[in-house]
Amino acid sequence: MHNNYVFIRIPSLSVNESFTRAAVAAFCSSLNPTVNEITEIKTAVSEAVTNAVVHAYEDKIGEIEIQCRIKGRVVEIIVEDFGCGIEDVEKAREPLFTTKPELERSGMGFSVMESFMDEVIVLSEKDVGTKVILRKKISEKKQKSLNEEIDESSEEE
Ligand code: ATP
Ligand code: MG
Repeated sequence: MHNNYVFIRIPSLSVNESFTRAAVAAFCSSLNPTVNEITEIKTAVSEAVTNAVVHAYEDKIGEIEIQCRIKGRVVEIIVEDFGCGIEDVEKAREPLFTTKPELERSGMGFSVMESFMDEVIVLSEKDVGTKVILRKKISEKKQKSLNEEIDESSEEE
């Protein structure tokens, strides 16, 4: 089988965060993920896209590219912006580190991504942009999958 992929390019408007989350979840559904797995992927993608919206472009609107690929049972999501970049990636990834405490940011975005994904790679260059690579292996099903739950609930109707 061919490895599947989709590219999404959006302006950095916060209204696009929920769209991106839903689009990535829909794309991943061919792997028959559990409700838990899909929730974890959506949450991690949300954090990465929100970071690009909130931090990358200051008061301007820039572009965000989201690439989503399925390689075997692994989902890879790349969230890329072309904004201000991160000065010290190691520090930015520490729990509770934020450069925007005044906006009630808690500095937990990267920690959330790390806890929900198998792999989180952050590549960033000042004034060039930031690329966050998220990878997660979707388990072979023993648990009930999202598709099965949807099927069952529609049968009940
Ligand atoms: P929270 O995610 O809890 O609302 P936060 O966004 O500040 O708070 P993280 O998501 O962990 O916390 O990010 C840590 C810091 O890394 C941010 O405060 C910001 O300085 C920097 N950062 C993250 N993503 C980007 C990005 N795409 N472009 C520029 N800086 C970023
Ligand atoms: Mg964040």
